[in-house]
Amino acid sequence: MNNALLLPIIVVLVVLLIGYILLAPRRRRHQAIHHHTKRRVVKNLLKRVDHGARVAIEHGHQRSPLWPGVADAHLLREPSCVVCGYRGRHVQVHHVKPFHLHPNLELDPNNLITLCEAGGREHHLILGHLDSWQSYNEHVRADAKHYYRKTAAQIRDDLRWRKMMVERP
Ligand SMILES: [Zn+2]
Ligand SMILES: [Zn+2]
Repeated sequence: MNNALLLPIIVVLVVLLIGYILLAPRRRRHQAIHHHTKRRVVKNLLKRVDHGARVAIEHGHQRSPLWPGVADAHLLREPSCVVCGYRGRHVQVHHVKPFHLHPNLELDPNNLITLCEAGGREHHLILGHLDSWQSYNEHVRADAKHYYRKTAAQIRDDLRWRKMMVERP
């Protein structure tokens, strides 16, 4: 190879190397942001097992596209289960008046309450829905106080709760 060709090749290689070094930090930052976004999306998907939406679809109603934002805003105000104080991945935003019967109240903050599906407690299912996702409990606010800190087993053993469950809508 002659020298006249060698020099431009070296110049090009040096320029590429400098460019690679200068852009590397930006590339890493971009990957980090992307990774973070992906983790948040996965976390939100895990958080949103949406029983209300499933029942509503059977009744011909779809969740509003605004629902995830309204649910997140509610969780900022009331982050933990009102029955047991649990906060974390297994909290759910529950509609006191069920979405499938009152779709107009879907986004009403006054119709929302935080309940958990933490293992051994299941306060969303037991007190929000009286043990059936198809059912609901319009007195859930009072019952959350009545059964404060009780486990799923304790509530299911309770005569008052059993009566409510038998008579549930
Ligand atoms: Zn619910
Ligand atoms: Zn709870």
